Amino acid sequence: MSLEQDRDHLNRKLRTITHCALYRKTLKLVCANEDCGHVRLLDAVPLWWLFNSQGWDDRLPGAVRHFYCSRCWKGRRWVLRPRYLVTADTPTGEQFTYPPESEWKRLVSRYRS
Ligand SMILES: [Zn+2]
Repeated sequence: MSLEQDRDHLNRKLRTITHCALYRKTLKLVCANEDCGHVRLLDAVPLWWLFNSQGWDDRLPGAVRHFYCSRCWKGRRWVLRPRYLVTADTPTGEQFTYPPESEWKRLVSRYRS
């Protein structure tokens, strides 16, 4: 049985990083370069805060254009966009800056009906 992890409680596909954050998801970014295959598991909560503070459009899949593989970036002029999956995996490695508790609570209360 395959578990759909990229869905909300009404089985709707999560279409923005904000929604991924509210459902405490992890973005799994896989480098599109097959010789590299670098995988990053990023907590959607700090990603929401990053996109929010930068004023970036957080709709998926377009939002992924803001990411690049840190390994392939070195010494190259082009940017390779990673493939991504919305997962319930535990985030690993370095994460982006987490939002202040007050900002996070403000977002959660805005979406709680
Ligand atoms: Zn790479």
